Amino acid sequence: MLQRLQIAPQGPEFSRLVMGYWRLMEWGMSPQQRVTFIEQHLESGITTTDHADIYGGYQCEAAFGEALRLQPSLRQRLELVTKCGIATTANPGHAIGHYITESRHILHSAENSLRYFHTDYLDLLLIHRPDPLMDADEIAEAFLALHQSGKVKHFGVSNFTPAQFSLLQSRLPFTLATNQLEISPLHQPAILDGSLDQCQQLRIRPMAWSCLGGGQLFTAAQYQPLRDELTAVMAETGADNIEQVVWAWVMRLPSQPLPIIGSGKIARVRSALRATQIVLTRQQWFRIRKAALGYDVP
Ligand code: NAP
Repeated sequence: MLQRLQIAPQGPEFSRLVMGYWRLMEWGMSPQQRVTFIEQHLESGITTTDHADIYGGYQCEAAFGEALRLQPSLRQRLELVTKCGIATTANPGHAIGHYITESRHILHSAENSLRYFHTDYLDLLLIHRPDPLMDADEIAEAFLALHQSGKVKHFGVSNFTPAQFSLLQSRLPFTLATNQLEISPLHQPAILDGSLDQCQQLRIRPMAWSCLGGGQLFTAAQYQPLRDELTAVMAETGADNIEQVVWAWVMRLPSQPLPIIGSGKIARVRSALRATQIVLTRQQWFRIRKAALGYDVP
């Protein structure tokens, strides 16, 4: 069965792999098909689901919630992670895309998420991106109110620098549970900019988004050397495909990131499970790093 991890001291317990619902509206599923898809990944042990208020032009949470309304028993088998703090022009009220981390907005967005999901609590609420105008005291005020009312169990951030993380943490009486970051061979900054070191220091597991570069891994000409190296490591490790090697590469990091799977195809989601059994050697890990970056370690 798929491993479960407590993602932070006093934090929630999540499945080792997380199902991402950013692309839900692209999958063309009926509400009943969404129920089936959720049941299928639950059966493989993937219980944690990742969402955001803005996904699918503000439609994904409600579409997922429709499935929870059709099959209410699913809620207690799932962890719901969602985010707020970005305002996109998909909302006609926004003339320009911007960030919004005022207390009132966070409370309002969390209430909307609860309503769309047909639930009375969220497992984890994240601030989606750092906001140049963010006032840590205001975010803390909203987090405390949501915590005290029991509407949100745990809180975290996404795409925060270590300094931004520490700033917000300094205003809170409880530990931020995660920093959700882009981590992949195709995008390696978090590996050396201090973000993952901070997670390791605080014993917080990051959540890793777009591990396959949003599908670019398979299509972009520039990643041919990476695909070649992944194919070689695939043969050495007995993996079934190169994406398993990528997820194993992400999970090899000592901060123990939780990869978020972005595919709407259940066979691809199930295939990810195998990656948890693959442990790359140091040299295999560095060969993949080099093939992606195009240069060796100094
Ligand atoms: P990803 O795994 O990098 O990319 C998923 C895409 O790759 C899908 O379009 C999928 O298509 C395609 N794909 C997967 N396997 C493939 C294969 N073998 N061949 C060809 N195409 C393949 O993940 P992502 O969707 O970009 O991100 C994952 C999750 O991270 C999102 O759902 C969201 O929850 C989260 N996220 C968070 C942030 C943030 O700022 N916090 C940003 C972006 C994403 P199919 O559906 O056809 O398989």
